[in-house]
Amino acid sequence: MLVDTHCHLFFDELKKDLDGVLSRAAALGVTKFICVGTNVEDSQHSYELSLKYENIFSTAGVHPHDSEEVPKDYLDQIKILLKKPKVIALGEIGLDYFKNISDKKIQKNIFREQLELAQEINVPIVFHNRDSDKDILDTLSKFPDVIGVAHCFSSSYKVAKKLIDMGFYISFSGNLTFKNSHLPDVAKKLPLNKILVETDSPFLSPVPHRGKINEPGRTRFVAELLAKLHGSTINQIALITTNNATNLFNL
Ligand SMILES: [Zn+2]
Ligand SMILES: [Zn+2]
Repeated sequence: MLVDTHCHLFFDELKKDLDGVLSRAAALGVTKFICVGTNVEDSQHSYELSLKYENIFSTAGVHPHDSEEVPKDYLDQIKILLKKPKVIALGEIGLDYFKNISDKKIQKNIFREQLELAQEINVPIVFHNRDSDKDILDTLSKFPDVIGVAHCFSSSYKVAKKLIDMGFYISFSGNLTFKNSHLPDVAKKLPLNKILVETDSPFLSPVPHRGKINEPGRTRFVAELLAKLHGSTINQIALITTNNATNLFNL
């Protein structure tokens, strides 16, 4: 059994045929899903899905792209959601200096405010980092009690190592399978008890489905490559990564 620790099931591409999406995932051995919110409204949607489906869990948080659009009381709304059953982490939060859809300063502010909340109510975070290693590490180091996962990891081994030392898990998505990626070399060197797998679907479809709408079932391709890199089996990878997810998120 595999857990897709990061998918966005509320997006139309997946939601319009969710039962089909979930049964195709089951056929590939992926049977638990963490549906990750990207703003207050989508976090509410994720929560509603987790009420409807036994094997869907959810998170609540504001993505760096959505930072400029937050309602004034967003922290209160997220806090309310985080008290509900099956809402298991604060996220996705973070910084994205690649797309810079929201102003850098605002991104940083919203990231910090949500980290304060994570610290206050003691929940793990799911964070997004694109081209912002330094600010991510600097900011996280100010919250030594906060742990969680570096989702869709795309940085260097050095950064992965630092994050693991700070108590974080590293989650690999379809970009692990992309041609010429540096990530297999990173994944090879990391301890399996610190690795999670995800799809970030509907985005980032792995090889051999690159460029198509991604689905949670394709967590399988990420796990298969991990098995190859670690000289392990898919069953062993499934066991360890599921165990990691269960421990971190208290599933
Ligand atoms: Zn992300
Ligand atoms: Zn995401």
